[in-house]
Amino acid sequence: MALFRKLKITIFMLRLMESIQFMKKAPIRIRNVFIVLALGLIPAIACQFFTQEPVDRYIHIRNFRYGKDPAVIRCNRGDRLHLTFSSDDTGHSFFLEEFDIDVKVSPAVEEVTVFSTRDPSDKPIITKELTITAEHPGLLNYLISKSQYRCHVWCGPMHAFEQGKLIILPNTLLCFSLGSLLGVFMIFLLGIFRRSAGDPVSPDDPSNWRDLLKRNKLLKKLVQSRWPQILLMFFALTLIYIVIMTSIFGTKMSGRNIGVLLMWAVWLFLIIVVMTPLGGRVWCTICPLPIFGDLIQRGSLFTPRTGKTRGYNNKFFGLSLPWPQRLDNNWLRIIVFLTLATFSTTMVASPRVSGLVILMLLLLPTLMAGIFELRAFCRYVCPVHAFVGPFAGMSTLALRNRSQEVCDKCKAHYCEKGNAHGWACPYGINVGEMKESDKCGLCLECIRSCTYDNVSLFKRPFASERKIGSMSDAWLSIAIFTIAIIYSILYLGHWPEIREYINILDKKNWDLFGIYTATLWSMVLFFVPGLFFLLARAGQAFSSVKLRTREIFLSYSGSLLPFSLLLWMAFVLPMLFVNITFVIQSASDPFGWGWDFFGTANTPWHQFMPRYIPWIQALLIVLGLNLSLRNILRSWREKELKPLQQLWLSLPFALFLMGVSVGLLLFFTN
Ligand code: SF4
Ligand code: SF4
Repeated sequence: MALFRKLKITIFMLRLMESIQFMKKAPIRIRNVFIVLALGLIPAIACQFFTQEPVDRYIHIRNFRYGKDPAVIRCNRGDRLHLTFSSDDTGHSFFLEEFDIDVKVSPAVEEVTVFSTRDPSDKPIITKELTITAEHPGLLNYLISKSQYRCHVWCGPMHAFEQGKLIILPNTLLCFSLGSLLGVFMIFLLGIFRRSAGDPVSPDDPSNWRDLLKRNKLLKKLVQSRWPQILLMFFALTLIYIVIMTSIFGTKMSGRNIGVLLMWAVWLFLIIVVMTPLGGRVWCTICPLPIFGDLIQRGSLFTPRTGKTRGYNNKFFGLSLPWPQRLDNNWLRIIVFLTLATFSTTMVASPRVSGLVILMLLLLPTLMAGIFELRAFCRYVCPVHAFVGPFAGMSTLALRNRSQEVCDKCKAHYCEKGNAHGWACPYGINVGEMKESDKCGLCLECIRSCTYDNVSLFKRPFASERKIGSMSDAWLSIAIFTIAIIYSILYLGHWPEIREYINILDKKNWDLFGIYTATLWSMVLFFVPGLFFLLARAGQAFSSVKLRTREIFLSYSGSLLPFSLLLWMAFVLPMLFVNITFVIQSASDPFGWGWDFFGTANTPWHQFMPRYIPWIQALLIVLGLNLSLRNILRSWREKELKPLQQLWLSLPFALFLMGVSVGLLLFFTN
């Protein structure tokens, strides 16, 4: 039977090779997909020939706050795993949904109670040893190699991070994704020597984008009226209010607190996976944080007041003091973002801290609005802007002018200065000069104020913007990338020792936390940007191109953004997928006080597609690498560099990113 299966696999591989001839004539994009798939499939299929005979393995699993030992169980497909358990401190569980087991473990008791995850009301089995066979049903047996085991008994504030992984060999996903990575690198090399000096349709030229308001009259009406926007803002404000109240006054169990779940599972997922890639800073369009500040400054939610305030054509209240010139950059935002990043675990694990921070984020813009110029908080302080700003260029939505000529002739600059139809741009932008999307908060006022109807929303290809204007923008891009890697290791990793460094809640590890903070800040602010600077120097030296290191450094940082965004997606995916049931539970019992509004408070824990999470994560990494390598080449093509110059200039960046991708694939799939 096994021989027959292997024969079928061989025939499939031969057919695959046959079709290579055919693919030579296919369009470039299809050919690229084929190369990546073929290079992924070959090792993925080949590794099936290296299976071992199933054996019996006897494994004792020690549970403790906040980890499992062993944190990784490796076995061969079909192995019988004889599992025994113990707990060092309090009650824990060994929750492995793919194998339908939730093993409740109590300290000083050898026997464990095994529940079915499919139906926890089934009669549990009480046993000293649990035996499972390391295999999945049907075709999944060949595709699924990684499963995550977790704890389903609240054992302390960091309980959510208690996890380990079961790896079943051969690891098809690892082989497939490493092969695909090679394919992406090959496409990158082939791309350098492709004949065309540029893409036939330049993706970053607005004249090639689709004007969304030109034909869609309904959308235009919705954008021009303030009603939909304000309704959505108030809806978001209500949610923030719920988040603050439930976080501060609700249960201290994060997984049962709707405030924490809405904030760190739902909102984070929506903003990273949906809103930013599709709509850039569209969150800012409906963000409730500046709502009270706007009200103080404008004195009205709807009709713009005409008048004169510091060169604007609108009347604004408050002191309207100019923001200090020295702070007119990203640095303050980076510091705020980094500070919140440092305490992120504390915020996630302690609902009260989380609620207080959000409350502060609501109060600060209101306070600043009375003192400083328009939306000073948004422009210079907001940590969300620090994140969505750089990624706004990746989005498929952008606000731009329809005709540059019209803007050039315009003397009134209503988009920037405002008029009776639209408020002055709260971000100080003149649309005629706008080339990048990061600074625009998509407040839509300029669409309302432009009397020539020359401002619109455009649909464009994903990840088409890649220019980075200043060193502080570059630093921000590198900071976001570095934090994504550090977060992945901290929160998704199976190393409980590392998490000791962030546990200032119940273990009060302040000394280790000091080391963690110093490491995080120095990595983000010095070491990784320093490394990028060295890479830029290397690229410059290899290629002998007359470009300044600064220019290469900026190009590298700009091209890093697609990879960072997709890495953030890979990071945030399990946050929602794993916790989706807890969101449903907590919707019925938002404070964790024993209510049951919708009858869902006791829904059994089920993760969403747990088997497929590593596959999606691996695909995101491969795709991110592809987009970043594509963008770096586009940067050089734009400067009309020769292929060999492009190659040498890109090589340090490409090799670095390949190395990081290999590390991340090993991390996510193995
Ligand atoms: S910059 Fe920050 S506070 Fe301002 S609208 Fe955007 S997310 Fe909200
Ligand atoms: S007024 Fe226009 S350019 Fe300024 S932030 Fe709003 S949408 Fe962007």
